Amino acid sequence: MDDLQCDGLTKRFGNFTAVNDVSFAVPSGSFFSILGPSGCGKTTLMRMIAGFENPSKGDIKIKGNSVLATPPNKRNVKMVFQHLALFPMMNVGENIAYGLRCRGEPKADIAHKVAAVLERIGLPGVEEKEVAQLSGGQKQRIAIARCMVLEPDVLLLDEPLGALDLKLRERMKIELKLLQHQFDTTFLYITHDQSEALVMSDNVAVMNAGRFEQIGTPQELYHSPASGFVAGFVGDTNRWKGRVVSIADGAAKVQTAAGEIVAAASGEDVAEGVEVDVFVRPEAIELGVPENGNSLRGKVDSLLFNGANSRILVRIADGELIEVNYPVMDGGGGLSAGDDVEIGWARERGRCFAAAR
Ligand code: ATP
Repeated sequence: MDDLQCDGLTKRFGNFTAVNDVSFAVPSGSFFSILGPSGCGKTTLMRMIAGFENPSKGDIKIKGNSVLATPPNKRNVKMVFQHLALFPMMNVGENIAYGLRCRGEPKADIAHKVAAVLERIGLPGVEEKEVAQLSGGQKQRIAIARCMVLEPDVLLLDEPLGALDLKLRERMKIELKLLQHQFDTTFLYITHDQSEALVMSDNVAVMNAGRFEQIGTPQELYHSPASGFVAGFVGDTNRWKGRVVSIADGAAKVQTAAGEIVAAASGEDVAEGVEVDVFVRPEAIELGVPENGNSLRGKVDSLLFNGANSRILVRIADGELIEVNYPVMDGGGGLSAGDDVEIGWARERGRCFAAAR
């Protein structure tokens, strides 16, 4: 059963198409993210689902029923915003109770439901606390509890971690995922941060210029991107230019300024003579050359120490900088800036897509 389904959803503002023929389904109880750069249409899409914006075309179904004619307050969806909009003049209990009171539920039921939801988010007994007394992470959880107490079919989350500092954001990523599991409610999450989408989601749609480029599990997007845009946007990657010399068995021989390499030909428009972008992840590249692998020569530009994410930057012949995983345990392999190195990777770890025009 899908809790949410969008078919051919389109939104035009005058001549500009902000959301272009988007279709997807979100299975019940799953965490689905829409990931894309600023301005790609994420918020507009979410506002249509919430009912704040009318689609120019297409349909939205919640639990199998079209909601196009249903006003926002009658759709059983709730929305958490980046600026959480907790009422500062009310205490925590009153904040959470607000929606239930508007629904006219009996007082005793409200108190019981508020206590139960606070228990579920791991903040039992904080009803009397003022909003100002809460930490950033607690405010997040209260904002979610305020929605969840109303038992929505779908919870919409519009970049809710955007205003938090980095450390808290990292922790909240995990907490949100745990909360979603605990409530077993469908979450639709929008973000421009690929690491948030990868960590939390069962499925992710990558959005670019109003369209969905690919829908898949985080693993599918990471290991089998369907377009150069997805390859470049999801996960860290190196990217440089080349031209296809020949193709055999799905492998393209590519001439780059730094030498000839072989990469998986991704997409039907990769053909002999076509300009391509080559993508290879930093963790696929090693110092030295694996058997039957690609190799390029270059010069160490710099060593970037960042714990497990440390990198060596190698400048290859065309001036591009290639990021290579840094062997932290042996102090960067004894390299220093200016050293000549040979880097290599297994052929199947690289892929090429026709260059975006
Ligand atoms: P961000 O992450 O920056 O919020 P987004 O992916 O959520 O971006 P939207 O806010 O949906 O993107 O905007 C998509 C495009 O639609 C933008 O170019 C925006 O300027 C345009 N847009 C949004 N709302 C309107 C409107 N009411 N009238 C005209 N253009 C609009």
